[in-house]
Amino acid sequence: MSTLPTTVRVVEVGPRDGLQNEREIVPTATKIAFIKALAAAGLKQIEATSFVNPKIIPKLSDASEVIAGLPRLDQVVFSALVPNERGLDRAIASGVKRIAIFTAASETFAQKNIGVTIEKSLEEYERVCTRASEAGISIRGYVSTAFVCPFEGNIDPSRVRDISKRLMNMGADEVAISDTIGAAVPTDVVRTLEIVAKSVSVGKIALHFHDTYGTALVNVLAGLQFGVTTFDSSAGGLGGCPFAPGASGNLATEDLVYTMHRMGIDTDVSLDGVVQAAELIARTINRPLASAGWRRWKGSSQSGCGQTCAST
Ligand code: MG
Repeated sequence: MSTLPTTVRVVEVGPRDGLQNEREIVPTATKIAFIKALAAAGLKQIEATSFVNPKIIPKLSDASEVIAGLPRLDQVVFSALVPNERGLDRAIASGVKRIAIFTAASETFAQKNIGVTIEKSLEEYERVCTRASEAGISIRGYVSTAFVCPFEGNIDPSRVRDISKRLMNMGADEVAISDTIGAAVPTDVVRTLEIVAKSVSVGKIALHFHDTYGTALVNVLAGLQFGVTTFDSSAGGLGGCPFAPGASGNLATEDLVYTMHRMGIDTDVSLDGVVQAAELIARTINRPLASAGWRRWKGSSQSGCGQTCAST
């Protein structure tokens, strides 16, 4: 354990990856309040929204208003997902300083999720990245279904490596290797990192896990042991993926932060602050959230069997 990092960077994706995949529509003002609360909790990288086609994802059609409603904070970077040049036009107009582009390691998933081949998506992103860089906007790349695809099964790590390299070469400063359906286990994580890290330095790799099978945190540990120090998570464990059958929520920020702190790893994030931010959404969608942290801190008033427990 002595080789573990002393600090990790948490990239909060709840307002985008989380809310995009919740059934209920969250009002714009609540989204803005949620994002402000996340920043107040100490999160410094927050993916606030997505400039996807509003006809495809109406829930995020208020992307420009959300960005306009956020304060300018020296320490916090708000970013937005951008699927194509049209999305970039809206992103530039909004004044956002960081964008995220996304493609998949699985051809079938790419065509179902973004409607084009991986190659076509990369060609579009070449143009998006050139224009974003000219506008002074920094770029994060996502490789989704990087470990397991719901349609194609196990993904060859060399595909993840090749796509990651392309995204970095076109101007991304970080690539998020993403377990979109939450099916990966630590051996998948290590196998993939061993190949990808030959082409992309470990400091530029982020890991994005979903908790479908409860393996997100053990996957984080595998990443930490490999030297990865950036992890994506979503307050309250919000999210899923409408194009990935069976995907449940993202790794919950409070579960990640709790575990890091207990391991002596600093995140600069307040656990209480994250739970308070998540509460804004829980109230709006009117149901308890899925994370272990949420049940522990918010559900405790309803728990207890009322009998003497000789638990072990
Ligand atoms: Mg995701």
